[in-house]
Amino acid sequence: MTMSYNISSSEVEMEWWISSIPKVELHAHLNGSIRNSTLFELARELGEKGTIVFSDFEHVIKKNDRTLCEVFKLFDLIHVVTTDHKTITRITKEVVEDFAAENVVYLELRTTPKRNDSIGMSKRSYMEAVVDGLRSASSNILDINFSCDDLEKFSKLPTKKRIIVRLLLSIDRRESTASAMETVKLALEMKDMGVIGIDLSGNPTVGEWETFFPALKFAREQGLSVTLHCGEVPNSVEIQEMLNFRPGRIGHACCFQDEEWRKLKLYKIPVEICLTSNIRTETISSMDVHHFANLYKENHPVVLCTDDSGVFSTNLSNEYALVSSAFGLGKMELFQLARKAVDFIFAGNEVKMELLKVYESAARTLEYN
Ligand code: 5GP
Repeated sequence: MTMSYNISSSEVEMEWWISSIPKVELHAHLNGSIRNSTLFELARELGEKGTIVFSDFEHVIKKNDRTLCEVFKLFDLIHVVTTDHKTITRITKEVVEDFAAENVVYLELRTTPKRNDSIGMSKRSYMEAVVDGLRSASSNILDINFSCDDLEKFSKLPTKKRIIVRLLLSIDRRESTASAMETVKLALEMKDMGVIGIDLSGNPTVGEWETFFPALKFAREQGLSVTLHCGEVPNSVEIQEMLNFRPGRIGHACCFQDEEWRKLKLYKIPVEICLTSNIRTETISSMDVHHFANLYKENHPVVLCTDDSGVFSTNLSNEYALVSSAFGLGKMELFQLARKAVDFIFAGNEVKMELLKVYESAARTLEYN
């Protein structure tokens, strides 16, 4: 009895400690981060209206382990429930508040701008609904800095009430070159609303690199940062093309061969690591063979991320706890891992300096033993 009490109390203490470290989240999909309670509430409402059959929806949502392909079917289902302006605003607000509540101090939130003529939604109006969500979160609890004007106030805000949010617009692999280009142009138009980059995501078994390349190249030429979902399925040719593009970061890197690891390390491209997502979607068979261990040991740039905190029932603190238990990282290493993520954010130097101050201040107050 005493033994189990001791173990659980130290686990609780570690959980608390991890949740109080300032954290940086760089790979979070808006619709994948939806609160479960919100998802069920929205589905029930549509069920009552007869738009969907709630029990079918509930059955799919409650399933825990899904292959990567099943996850994309799930996203199509989630989008049926979430994609109207009011709901997108609500989800954005809640997602930002949830990250802030676990001490995420900087969030790059990504989402795929969607067009739905039947409800008068354009890619731009979708994104404006997202920005409205950021603004309403800001009036409640935190500081969304679009202009960087009052960044110096940031580090003085109480913990759990401060978060800087930037947006990445995702291109879905089902899109055409023209549609991808439209997303990039929208990102450029929305630079003064916190949009700083482009992501390529969606089902990795769909679409060709050549289709997206012109839009991604244009994005970079125009000063946007680019991150790519890379190597979620074995596809050496595409992985090499992506690495040769030298993106600012890549997500996942689960199915790399020796040559691809060599190139990744040579180019020092930071990797967004999503442990729970990789295990749940079976892109990595178990934690003990996860590539985090090798990349971390070799000091390759890595950042822990949630991917889809709602869909995979995780949060960023949980990802840090997993890394601690699976790979034996102690408090000091976890803190350094969190702080190092600042180097890989897409926002500029002003924001980086401010975040480093937050870490300096946390280092003075947190205990490491
Ligand atoms: P949204 O862009 O609608 O806000 O977020 C959900 C979308 O993000 C999905 O439809 C999918 O395109 C993308 N996404 C979410 N998780 C993953 C993932 O693990 N891998 C890939 N390739 N795409 C993802």
